Amino acid sequence: MPSASPGPAEDPRRRIPRTDDLLALPELVGARDRLSGAVLRGLVGEVQDRARRGVLPPEEVRGEVLAAVASRSATCLRPVLNATGVVVHTNLGRAPLSETAVQALITAGGYVDVEMDLVTGRRSQRGAGARRALLAACPAEVPGGLDALVVNNGAAALVLATTALIGTGELIVSRGELVEIGAGFRLPDLITSTGARLREVGTTNRTHRADYASAIGPETAGLLKVHPSNFRVDGFTSAVPIEDLRSLADEDGPRPGTGHSLPLIVDVGSGLLTADPALPEEPDLTSALEAGADVVIASGDKLLGGPQAGLLLGRAETIRRLARHPLARAVRADKLTLAALEATLGGGITPVSRALHADPERLRERAERLGTAVGAPVVAHEGRVGGGGAPGVPLAGWAVRLPEDLALLLRTGDPAVLPRVQGGACLVDLRCIPEPDDGRLAEAVRAAQSRRGTHPETPVPDGGH
Ligand SMILES: *Cc1c(COP(=O)(O)O)cnc(C)c1O
Repeated sequence: MPSASPGPAEDPRRRIPRTDDLLALPELVGARDRLSGAVLRGLVGEVQDRARRGVLPPEEVRGEVLAAVASRSATCLRPVLNATGVVVHTNLGRAPLSETAVQALITAGGYVDVEMDLVTGRRSQRGAGARRALLAACPAEVPGGLDALVVNNGAAALVLATTALIGTGELIVSRGELVEIGAGFRLPDLITSTGARLREVGTTNRTHRADYASAIGPETAGLLKVHPSNFRVDGFTSAVPIEDLRSLADEDGPRPGTGHSLPLIVDVGSGLLTADPALPEEPDLTSALEAGADVVIASGDKLLGGPQAGLLLGRAETIRRLARHPLARAVRADKLTLAALEATLGGGITPVSRALHADPERLRERAERLGTAVGAPVVAHEGRVGGGGAPGVPLAGWAVRLPEDLALLLRTGDPAVLPRVQGGACLVDLRCIPEPDDGRLAEAVRAAQSRRGTHPETPVPDGGH
C-alpha cells in the first residue's frame, strides 16, 4: 500500500530553534556591546544542547536563552558576602576597596594623565599622585629623605629589591623568617630565583646579633629582615631588632665595590603605614624606616586596605636605584592600581579598617537581629585579621550559628555568602559584611533555609528577592 506509514512521532529535536534565529533575537543583538559573539554563541549552544539531550522542552529554549543572556556578566567573578569574620581573606581577593577607590578605578579606566603633565604637554613621572600620597601617609624621617615606588605586589617588590641591591651576592636572613607566603610560594625560593644567595643564620626560634655578625663577610651583599606575618612562634624566642641590624651594617663600613654600607631590606608584609594600637605586634613601615631600614616592603591589599600592589619606601638614593633597574619596568603598577592606591591613602576609612575596628557590641546587636530574622542562635565568635597579618590577634565578635549543611546552599545562593564552617556548624559572622547589606544577608540565609526545606517559619520562595 502506497499510503505513508504512521511512523514514529516527529523527532522533538527538530523543534529546537536554530542558532541563527536565536542570535538574531533583539535581546541578543542588544547584548552584543556587552558580550562577545563567541560568548553569545556559547550560551545559545549550551541551551540547545540541553534540549537535544531531552532535559529541556524545545518550546522553552528561547526563554532559557533570553534568561541566560540577561544574567550573564562579562566576568565570571561573582561578588561574595564575606561572613567568615576573616578580614583580609586571600581567597576572596584580600582587601575590598573603599567606594572612593572604586570610583578612582572607574575614572582611570579611560584615558588619564598617568604619565603626562597637562600644563606642559610633556611626559611626567608615572604615578606621581600615588607616590605623593604614600609619602604623605608615612611620616618617617630618614637620612637623605624618603622616597617611594609602587610595583605589582609584595613579591615583585622583594624580587626587585633583591635583584637591584644584592645581585649575586649573599643576603643574610634569620632561619625563623624564611616563610611560605601561601599557595606553596616560599620566600627563600623567590629570593634565590633572582640569583642572590641566601645565607641563613640562627635557628627557627632564636637568632642573635652575634649570628649576623659572624656571618658578615666579603661575600655579604645585604641583610634582610622579614616579618613572619602568617604564623607565630611562641615561647623561647628571640629575634634581632632592626636597630641592631642597622648598626651591624654600618660597623661593616662601606663595601669595596659599591662604596655604600650593606643595604638593609625589611619586608613587613601587611602594609600598616603607622602603628595601630589594635594590632600591637604588627610592624609598620614608618617605625621600620626610622629604626634604620634602607628600604621597606609591604603589600597594598592587606592591612592598608587598597588594591594589590607592592609598596617600596626607603631612602631616596636606594629607591632611585630600584626605579632605574630594568626589572622595575617589568613589575610596574598599572594605572588602575595607582589610582585605587592613591584614593585609598587619601580617602576615608577603608572597609578593612572598619572591619578590624568593629565595635563588638554593635556586632552583637547586628548578629542578634539576624539571628531573630532566621530563627537561629547567636554565639561568641572570634574574627581574624587574615591575609598574613597579626596571626595571634583574635578579634572579639559574634556569629549566628546554623546547621553545617547550610554552608553549601549559602555559597551557591544569590548573593553568594561565604560562612565559616567550624566544629560541625555553619557560622555567619557579620564583621566583614557592610552594614547596609545586613538585609540582603538575612534574605540569603532564609532562601538557603527554604531551599533546604526545613525553615521553621515563613518560607521564602526560591529567588524571591
Ligand atoms: C604577603 C607577604 C608577601 C607577599 O606579598 P604579595 O603582595 O602577596 O605578593 C611577602 N612577604 C610577606 C612577609 C608577606 O606577608
